[in-house]
Amino acid sequence: MAQTLHIVGGGMAGAEAAWQAANAGLDVVIHEMRPDVETFAHRTGHLAEMVCSNSFRSDDSEQNAVGLLHWEMRAAGGLIMEMADAHRLPAGGALAVDRDAFAEAVTTRLTALPNVRVEPGEIDELPGDGHWIIATGPLTSGALAEAIRAETAADQLAFFDAIAPIVYAESIDMTRAWRQSRYDKGETEEERTAYINCPMDRETYEAFIDALLAADKTEFKPGETAGYFDGCLPIEVMAERGRETLRHGPMKPVGLTNPHQPDVKPYAVVQLRRDNALGTLYNIVGFQTKMKYGAQTDVFRMIPGLEDASFARLGGIHRNTFINSPTLLDGEMRLKSRPNIRFAGQITGVEGYVESAAMGLLAGRLATAELTGRSLPPVPATTATGALVTHITGGAEAKTFQPMNVNFGLFPPVDLKGGRRNRPARYKAYTDRAKSDWLGWLAANAQNAA
Ligand SMILES: Cc1cc2nc3c(=O)[nH]c(=O)nc-3n(C[C@H](O)[C@H](O)[C@H](O)COP(=O)(O)OP(=O)(O)OC[C@H]3O[C@@H](n4cnc5c(N)ncnc54)[C@H](O)[C@@H]3O)c2cc1C
Repeated sequence: MAQTLHIVGGGMAGAEAAWQAANAGLDVVIHEMRPDVETFAHRTGHLAEMVCSNSFRSDDSEQNAVGLLHWEMRAAGGLIMEMADAHRLPAGGALAVDRDAFAEAVTTRLTALPNVRVEPGEIDELPGDGHWIIATGPLTSGALAEAIRAETAADQLAFFDAIAPIVYAESIDMTRAWRQSRYDKGETEEERTAYINCPMDRETYEAFIDALLAADKTEFKPGETAGYFDGCLPIEVMAERGRETLRHGPMKPVGLTNPHQPDVKPYAVVQLRRDNALGTLYNIVGFQTKMKYGAQTDVFRMIPGLEDASFARLGGIHRNTFINSPTLLDGEMRLKSRPNIRFAGQITGVEGYVESAAMGLLAGRLATAELTGRSLPPVPATTATGALVTHITGGAEAKTFQPMNVNFGLFPPVDLKGGRRNRPARYKAYTDRAKSDWLGWLAANAQNAA
């Protein structure tokens, strides 16, 4: 008799996990609370509803990490990508989708499978036995969130993401910036040089504050802000409270000496902290923001040392329920304290439709392998799917864990023969390696299933 996999939440991740598991022969039950229980963002009862933009972002699988994720999901027979392609709208290099037709098609295709059943209703506690994937997304219902919090710990479940911008380390101008922890604190040289510092003189600081105050900002949705203003004020709100507030907060210049100008005391200092084990990404400390994306790049490039910064992701503050995956999940996306439960999608701390669907695809395959008594080789960290799962299950700093989009900073560096090459050549090398490794992993999946 086929084994049963229960999936809570029929969004991007849950729908893709169900498709993968059902096509591999499992019986699948999707527990979906909509339309009986609504969220503030969803409008329909369809599976895989896109709650906001209708874009799957860049479809360039050679030069863009999210385009590579598209490619990997297509190669794995993913339903979300097949339906997105079928309902594609013209949008230049981006993959834009007719959202209603897309969600209807995902629902129809899934429910047409004889071994998939949608069980309407909210799941309000963590299941005791059986095999489960929880894919309830950024708007996980209150009762289930409370149950997750009770199982884990109060500080292991977040209700908002307060994302500071993340910069590629290689794009920081180290002739202006320097490495030093405040007051040289730390036992090891690595700890004493854990931060990258960008100094500002008075004139630059004043211009920066003016730009922050004038920048275009995104408004909160009604009901979105409850409980958020605890210790994670957007920088522009801090600037509105007084021109000196930032200089006495995240930009305080104390305990730091600029080796490029040891005799000049900076008026303010912007600090960046390492964001991943590879040391390829740095977040700007305390710089969560509601500025619009275009305004963010303009304003942050005013910071000395960041004039040519490339951003792996820009800042934001959103309603978003997510767990501290680096501490709670094992490498196979199982809750360490209850290994019969996997987590997938945005609740694991990835961000975006595509990343969530990819984590659903992987969780569906991992659950299938486990339920059918097969072992899968670990998904290579050199692939987009592997880089993401490696990041959330261990590569990211647990203490400062915030949701992450896929980006090349998560990939192990490529060894380019012939020295440093230009960015397109490097990205092509990343994506060539990923495609080859992903096909190898899929082949190992297929062999194990045979
Ligand atoms: C306001 C808002 C705007 C966003 N805009 C964008 C955007 O423009 N682009 C982008 O890429 N991403 C956006 N996101 C993120 C987006 O939600 C995710 O990328 C994606 O939908 C996550 O997929 P998921 O499967 O993890 O969650 P979802 O797609 O949200 O699916 C989760 C499902 O679980 C169900 N559910 C929740 N709790 C329970 C329960 N207890 N029992 C049963 N079912 C339950 C929900 O009804 C839902 O169907 C936005 C998020 C929000 C909140």
